[in-house]
Amino acid sequence: MGTLLTSQRVSDGPVVPMSNGLTAVLLDVLSLAACRFATTDWEKRFAYFLIQHDASRVGLGTAGLEVSEFGWTHEDFENEKRFILAVVDAALAKSNWELLGFEPRPESILPALERLRAMIIAFPMSAIPRESEDAWIPDELPTHGECEVHHVYLHELGCMLCNDQPIDAPPNRAPHRT
Ligand SMILES: [Zn+2]
Repeated sequence: MGTLLTSQRVSDGPVVPMSNGLTAVLLDVLSLAACRFATTDWEKRFAYFLIQHDASRVGLGTAGLEVSEFGWTHEDFENEKRFILAVVDAALAKSNWELLGFEPRPESILPALERLRAMIIAFPMSAIPRESEDAWIPDELPTHGECEVHHVYLHELGCMLCNDQPIDAPPNRAPHRT
């Protein structure tokens, strides 16, 4: 079982299958950058949306990413795109990866980030969906504080990066394990 990275509202949009392990690493490296860079409410909601995908919170294999569901607005589309590209670029540059607590395999994570980058660039304003009640849109601000080890937002059950630490990690490297 795994998840999909998709951009279904773009014609011939790619569908990238990911293992659960790759999904977790992708969310970890994106969240590291998104939580660090977020200053506006939209950016904080987007960063928290990534955090909410923690498989320890929602279940393994349910946390894929669909580019149209990133909470895009018509009013600020260019800034939103610029923010997400800055996040992806920081992840591609392995920025702050020393906080991860493990070494991702570059041969799987870097191509996934490149695919995501291309999907963001190709996503046009015209593909922003009408609000749908089923869509999982980034609509919540983080209110549970921040992990002192990983410097990412906590969700109501803990820290996504603590949850992704090796099982034998010392407790002080994973203080907010769910
Ligand atoms: Zn943590």
